[in-house]
Amino acid sequence: MKNISILFLLISVAVSGQTDPKIYDIIKDVSADRIKADVKTLTEFGTRNTFSDTISNTQGIGAARRWIKSQFEVISSECDSCMEVFYQKDFVTKKGNNRVPHDAWVVNVVAVQKGTKYPNKYIIMSGDIDSRASDTMDFTTDAPGANDNASGMAGTLEAARVLSAYKFESSIIYVGLSGEEQGLFGGAGLVQYVKEKGWDIIGILNNDMIGNITGVDGVIDNRSFRIFSEPVPANETERQRKMRRFYGGEVDGISRQLARYIHKSVRIYMPEMNPMMIYRLDRFGRGGHHRPFNDAGFAGIRIMEAHENYTQQHQDIRIEDGIKYGDTFEHVNFGYAKKLTAVNAISLANLAWAPAAPEEVAIGGIVEANARLSWSKVEGAKGYKIYWRDTTSPTWDHERYVETTAFTLEGIVIDNFFFGVAAIGENGHESVVVFPNRILR
Ligand SMILES: [Zn+2]
Repeated sequence: MKNISILFLLISVAVSGQTDPKIYDIIKDVSADRIKADVKTLTEFGTRNTFSDTISNTQGIGAARRWIKSQFEVISSECDSCMEVFYQKDFVTKKGNNRVPHDAWVVNVVAVQKGTKYPNKYIIMSGDIDSRASDTMDFTTDAPGANDNASGMAGTLEAARVLSAYKFESSIIYVGLSGEEQGLFGGAGLVQYVKEKGWDIIGILNNDMIGNITGVDGVIDNRSFRIFSEPVPANETERQRKMRRFYGGEVDGISRQLARYIHKSVRIYMPEMNPMMIYRLDRFGRGGHHRPFNDAGFAGIRIMEAHENYTQQHQDIRIEDGIKYGDTFEHVNFGYAKKLTAVNAISLANLAWAPAAPEEVAIGGIVEANARLSWSKVEGAKGYKIYWRDTTSPTWDHERYVETTAFTLEGIVIDNFFFGVAAIGENGHESVVVFPNRILR
């Protein structure tokens, strides 16, 4: 009898703690050496300021973006043309933009790995092509931008290399964005492009500075990193805002759910890392390329080192009062950049292997002893997980797997928890959690 109950326990652990061995392979395959080589190359274009030279083959943003495109093309040629690689560009003018020194094309480099089952659903990983000197209008002074943001760009290239060995159900976009430093122009341009195409965007994982482990305060930490997410969509309606007062959701917007998803993936597959969910759009008063996506109502988060070094950001290379300024190659830690690239790669893979999230999730249980949930059926889902947590908890701590589209949680009082539902595929991969968007009476 004792043996039987132990056996039962082992089986239930195996089922509830299901992991996919392919995810461990993906982590292992990410190469610090390749990221290092790519950061080195990117730092050697002199400056990658968006308004720098576009004619030279060795200097300026033109040479940099052509090199990035050629790298995506090599990756695609080695996976039987599994990626479509192209430039997406928009013209920005000096007129009306006080950080634009002259009219120019802002050019993004895009690589799309089409999904086999849901080709119109896209998850995006981004880094930035551009860099800047102390003066953002200065497009000639050397600006190696090794950490800001060759690290994010190299990580995006490396994730594309690793994931090109697999087929996914949803599509993955790997993109190098430009114009970040002068006004998030590249991100805004890509948002417009995907809206015109009618692409269904799961979300964007924006990588901006993923290689510094030595903080300006002297803290050295190669395990912690930050996932920034805004609380609720920036384009919510007045009605949605009013409803939130009664039904909750202040810390449960779509970007926050994406942040929780990444946090959970890391906790399961990379337990040595310390992911910090930061409950804000970005750093205090500062910006990044996930924001244009958030502005348009898409989920988007920023992945970033935990400890910044401000003497190595947006600084001309120089020595002043004995301090070496400049965002140079020697300061990037490639073992750490590899880890943060792996965080992206496993999150992209988990999402791209998962079915869509339920569109409608309804909840009821006012003046009842039980919480009731129902949700729309998801094509390709084997089952669903109902998640709930204490109202003060940042993470989905309780779960119940079911194979129906409605369920009552006996004895769980609606008032005392927050709830959500995710779809689970045949392969065990999960969608992001959807916070209830309807009330059951
Ligand atoms: Zn920057």
